[in-house]
Amino acid sequence: MADFETQIVVIAGGPAGLSAAVQAAEDGADVILIEKNAAVGGAANMGMGPLAIGSHYQKRQMIDLTVEEALNMYMEYTHYKVDGRLVKRYFEQSAETIEWLEDMGVEFEGAFKYFTKAQPTWHIVKTDQGIGPRAASFMNKALYARAQELGVKIMLETPGKKILKDDEGKVCGVIAVDKDGKEIEIACKAAIIATGGAGANPEFILEQTGYKFGEDMFNFAIPGNVGDGIRMAWEAGVDRVPVRIEQAANFEGIDDLPTSVANIMMQPNLLVNLHGKRVMDEEQMQNTTYLSNAASRQKGRLLFSIVDSSIAKYYMRNGVDEICLVRMNPDCSDFIEGIEQAKKTGNKGLFIADSLEELAEMTGIDEENLLETVDDYNDYCDGYDEEFFKRKKYLRPLTKAPYYAAAVHPGGYGTVGGIRINENCECCDSEDEPIPGLYAAGADACNIYDDSYMFLLPGNSMGFAVNTGRIAGMEAAEYVEGEDD
Ligand SMILES: Cc1cc2nc3c(=O)[nH]c(=O)nc-3n(C[C@H](O)[C@H](O)[C@H](O)COP(=O)(O)OP(=O)(O)OC[C@H]3O[C@@H](n4cnc5c(N)ncnc54)[C@H](O)[C@@H]3O)c2cc1C
Repeated sequence: MADFETQIVVIAGGPAGLSAAVQAAEDGADVILIEKNAAVGGAANMGMGPLAIGSHYQKRQMIDLTVEEALNMYMEYTHYKVDGRLVKRYFEQSAETIEWLEDMGVEFEGAFKYFTKAQPTWHIVKTDQGIGPRAASFMNKALYARAQELGVKIMLETPGKKILKDDEGKVCGVIAVDKDGKEIEIACKAAIIATGGAGANPEFILEQTGYKFGEDMFNFAIPGNVGDGIRMAWEAGVDRVPVRIEQAANFEGIDDLPTSVANIMMQPNLLVNLHGKRVMDEEQMQNTTYLSNAASRQKGRLLFSIVDSSIAKYYMRNGVDEICLVRMNPDCSDFIEGIEQAKKTGNKGLFIADSLEELAEMTGIDEENLLETVDDYNDYCDGYDEEFFKRKKYLRPLTKAPYYAAAVHPGGYGTVGGIRINENCECCDSEDEPIPGLYAAGADACNIYDDSYMFLLPGNSMGFAVNTGRIAGMEAAEYVEGEDD
């Protein structure tokens, strides 16, 4: 005899799970949502907002990006290795999702780019504190309130453990563990898995991706996101598709310092590997996925961003060239104080040297090559970057000590992918056959990037979470209605 009975169990309360629960309840289903943590929102509480294409904000801002253009751009970027039907359904729904969220009280600042070359698809949630990290927690609060208003039973500190199937292979229940550590069974007709990936599970990351957490991978690790949903789905017979890191480069310990340090070190400065060689047009560093990918393929999975004191002074006087919305203030006047603070706190990723030779010794960069690279680079500053064609406006010579360097490692927001779904967010076996009553959404099922996060359309992972959550919710509601007939 089950402890609870409902039509749909949503496993987890991040943006994917909350959206699934709200949508399913709006469509008339009885829903129980179980969440492992003591609060809902998941990783998205740290983020700023979802992607949309063709929203009324974009129309008002005269941004003319259509679903057709975005889809074509997307499929080319991923070499047609991902599910075009799923991407299309997600993109097509994304503008209406903004209105759906607005109807429950979410406000948006507008549509933004993450960096100059990106498209303005990032719909940053409005807060009472201006644009900045954690804005999307306001969206999660509104989704939570709406779920409660619709009568969704929300059980916090109740991790899902196992999907139950009946003799016909249809979902018939979920096993979870309640607040008191007691195993409970919830009978249901459908389950939606949305546990946010495995960013906080070093063993799983090593096994699935080959990266060593804290050694050559510095991804955000949201407590509780350890791959429970992926494991549950795989155990229930869902096809295993590759789990990837949603890469975004990491500058060790830099976010604990005044923002001027990160702002300056993340400009399109000279970037070299341990061989002392450049590896890319540094303007592309603004796409933090590209930077992380580039770092990943170097010796030691390491790069160094280097400025001299005159470049630092230029930024301190004028502010940075490239503004990042996560660190909105372009003022860098307290860079030196920030560096001093880094020295005091023993930051291992920042280096200050009185000569390039000393910098080479401190960092392990090949000295001879570093000197040659800086020499060549300084020549390009007078003329043309014949090595990587960096635009003139980002070329500044390094001539004056002290030199400042920051180590760049591969990093990421967490993991994406693992569970095979189709465009209806139905979990599928290796033959692409849906497992009746089993759905997945968000990071657990986000197989749409192939090997690299699509930062050219920012807001993509939260956009995918909210929109696939809604799709799973509406499809599951329709399925359970059919099962009840
Ligand atoms: C610092 C940061 C900033 C970001 N900014 C953005 C941004 O601005 N735009 C964007 O598009 N993306 C952003 N992202 C990524 C985005 O937050 C994620 O893609 C998104 O949150 C994924 O949603 P989700 O619901 O799948 O998972 P999550 O938000 O991670 O939620 C997963 C939930 O599952 C719960 N859970 C885990 N296991 C179980 C279990 N066994 N049973 C029940 N519950 C369980 C967790 O406690 C958690 O609440 C950011 C990520 C980080 C870390």
